[in-house]
Amino acid sequence: MPTRRSSDSSAGDLLFETAVDQFEAAADLIELDDPLRRVLRAPKNEIIVSFPVEMDDGELRMFRGYRVQHNDILGPFKGGLRFSPEVELGEVKALSMWMTWKTSLANVPFGGAKGGLAIDPRSMSTAELERAVRRFTHALGSNIGPEYDIPAPDVGSNSQAMVWMMDTYQHTRGTIDRQNVKRVVTGKTIETGGSLGRDKATGQGMAFVLAHHYDQINQDLRGRTAAIQGFGNVGEHAARAMARMGVTMTHVADHTGATMHPNGIDPEALWRHTSEAGGVAGFAGGTDIDVEDFFAADVDILVPAAIENQITEDRAPNVRASVVLEGANGPTSTEGEHILIDRGIEILPDVLANAGGVVVSYFEWLQNKMSNRWQLSQVDDELRRYLWEAADAVEYEKKHLACSRREAAYAVALRRIATVYEQRGIWP
Ligand code: NAD
Repeated sequence: MPTRRSSDSSAGDLLFETAVDQFEAAADLIELDDPLRRVLRAPKNEIIVSFPVEMDDGELRMFRGYRVQHNDILGPFKGGLRFSPEVELGEVKALSMWMTWKTSLANVPFGGAKGGLAIDPRSMSTAELERAVRRFTHALGSNIGPEYDIPAPDVGSNSQAMVWMMDTYQHTRGTIDRQNVKRVVTGKTIETGGSLGRDKATGQGMAFVLAHHYDQINQDLRGRTAAIQGFGNVGEHAARAMARMGVTMTHVADHTGATMHPNGIDPEALWRHTSEAGGVAGFAGGTDIDVEDFFAADVDILVPAAIENQITEDRAPNVRASVVLEGANGPTSTEGEHILIDRGIEILPDVLANAGGVVVSYFEWLQNKMSNRWQLSQVDDELRRYLWEAADAVEYEKKHLACSRREAAYAVALRRIATVYEQRGIWP
């Protein structure tokens, strides 16, 4: 049963309703019992903190941060932190629920969480940002921890922010514990304990999932074309990893506009341009186009890798790609998805396609725990193995349940969680 939508719901509330609807549909498919549905429908903890930060001009400004811990039956809560002025509770709740399914599907021993800090990092100085991140970490206190809840970067945050978080958290511990808490966050810089391959992990993982799909349908991936929305951490590394597999990015879009070149756009040249110009618009190696033309691009693969709710019922009828590879979380609306499926377009859903980030976060956490370092080739090989096993499980469930690939991915994730609840029971 879809949840009831009220007209005064915020975008975040609607996103959470979408997440719950998707969960209920999958729960129906695997006939999940009602008590467990009630446990999984709502997050375990919703933490909101408010704290003052001194700005460079001496003014004190109040900021608000969120951490939603959805479920930890499979292991410590795990999920990114989003820095954006628009971030709100409903959005973070939805993203935390999706993390629970993602970690379970990827078969890493973590639960699901997500956080947000309502700031605009682009409008703040580095010193202001550092103070805000450190105050946020301090305000979260023991609501995070290396065996309890482990944040990571997401939209608007990065490895530097994770290093500030780790450093602040370390300084709140007793001296003999300090070296043992590095893994309180993942996505750190290499020098401070990050993993090789973590920066590109989500994009690299997307390319592995795409390669698995083309292998399943017995077609060659080499020579395909792609349109990528978002050229941040996920989009840029997806473009590079797909290029290494012989896929040409002909269209790219972000918050500044969209651009295309029929012979392909070099990810390295575009990266140099966006680093200076702040976005893809005005790239000399392409022609600027309208964003609606971007979604209707004549390409093989459409990659939404920016923000949620981009392939809507208005855009889905125009999509000409035969595969949608979801890099962002929740980029396809429920109505948009129905239209794509009716039109025979294959969707490689976010919970599977962008799970590479959390898988390599797990590798980073393991390396910190064991005080060792893996080679990049080991990270990549293990990442491929985890994602292909997940993709195999999804394809099996898809056939077995005769359902969509997203429902199949949820079914795999939910079955694992249900088994653990069944064996452990609910106590007291
Ligand atoms: P990022 O901040 O590095 O990049 C975001 C990109 O989206 C930028 O190119 C930006 O210009 C673009 N964008 C922002 N608003 C837009 C708009 N209104 N229209 C078009 N483009 C817009 O973020 P990221 O880490 O690359 O994350 C992108 C998506 O991938 C998010 O949905 C995030 O939750 C998801 N994700 C990220 C990771 C990770 O490891 N970073 C892992 C899994 C999923």
